[in-house]
Amino acid sequence: MSQNQGFMKALKCRECGREYPLTATHVCEFDFGPLEVAYDYAKIKKSLTREAIESRPKSMWRYRELLPVATEPTVGQQAGFTPLVKADRLAKKLGIRELWVKNDTVNYPTLSFKDRVVSVALSRAKELGFTTVACASTGNLANSVAAQAAAAGLKAYVFIPSDLEQGKIINSLVYGAHVIGIKGHYDEVNRLCAEIAGKFGWAFVNVNMRPYYAEGSKSMAYEIIEQLGWRIPQHTIVPMASGSLLTKIQKGYQEFVKLGLVTESKYSIHGAQATGCSPISVAHKAGLDFFKPVKPDTIAKSLAIGTPADGFYALKVMKETNAHADDISDDEIRDAIKLQDAGCRNRPRRQAARNQAQPARIRSHAGE
Ligand SMILES: [Zn+2]
Repeated sequence: MSQNQGFMKALKCRECGREYPLTATHVCEFDFGPLEVAYDYAKIKKSLTREAIESRPKSMWRYRELLPVATEPTVGQQAGFTPLVKADRLAKKLGIRELWVKNDTVNYPTLSFKDRVVSVALSRAKELGFTTVACASTGNLANSVAAQAAAAGLKAYVFIPSDLEQGKIINSLVYGAHVIGIKGHYDEVNRLCAEIAGKFGWAFVNVNMRPYYAEGSKSMAYEIIEQLGWRIPQHTIVPMASGSLLTKIQKGYQEFVKLGLVTESKYSIHGAQATGCSPISVAHKAGLDFFKPVKPDTIAKSLAIGTPADGFYALKVMKETNAHADDISDDEIRDAIKLQDAGCRNRPRRQAARNQAQPARIRSHAGE
């Protein structure tokens, strides 16, 4: 690619480091390693300062140099910059000094974390000339793809497990996406999508567009740092579905350190799963660096990925950051939902800057 690449350098294999042009592709031809976007950090350092960031609109695109688009984003310009909520009563209940919850349930436009990754994937898909986008989904991703494709004038196909609750998919239908139910678990739907992705010339956001799509998750890490008054929380607890979000939180923290936007400090990034689908946490607790795929059986459907694409890398990050992983039963999830209702309270964001010396714990939301 000789045309404008923005701040991106290439797609790079996470296993062997081989570089590829910035097209719609996601796997290394030599070792099947996943491809990841590599950036020109020297170039980024010149334009991405704290002052520049703070002067920009409050969306995830205020960190645009670190997001994989060549030009200005054209889809989902208002996604991200969700509130970081100080949950004092929940902290007290859990016996923690300071607790913050990243509330991505108010993301724009579909009230899910997925609005981040989809706005990146579709902006990039448009740059690459695609007119049809698609995804494999457990619900949230489908809705975000459907809504943002409608706004961007793209055709959308979403593939879901046919037993998915109707309520989770109704928005996709409203936004005019073609919804295709597949008999099987998410993992089987995903495998089908991987097989047909190349066939139709579609941009599958979590298949051939995955290197770009996944980068959108980093915005959550940048926002957490900025909203805490430019510091990295001592502990970050991340729900794990594919494990991708956890690895991208780590990449985001590391990039801010590399760019001198935050001081390096000791931190851990912990992973959480539901016991009914806990391949990553089970492996971590057993001290293994690989996981055994499982058949999901949990009410936490958005986390029910039995063969997590980034499970291996999530295990690596938890090991590197000296973190823990754990999983909880469906009964515990129900209890926690009730507890959360009584426990969260909003606080002005500026409070964060004044609490510099305090350690912080962050929780965030995920799912495919
Ligand atoms: Zn490779």
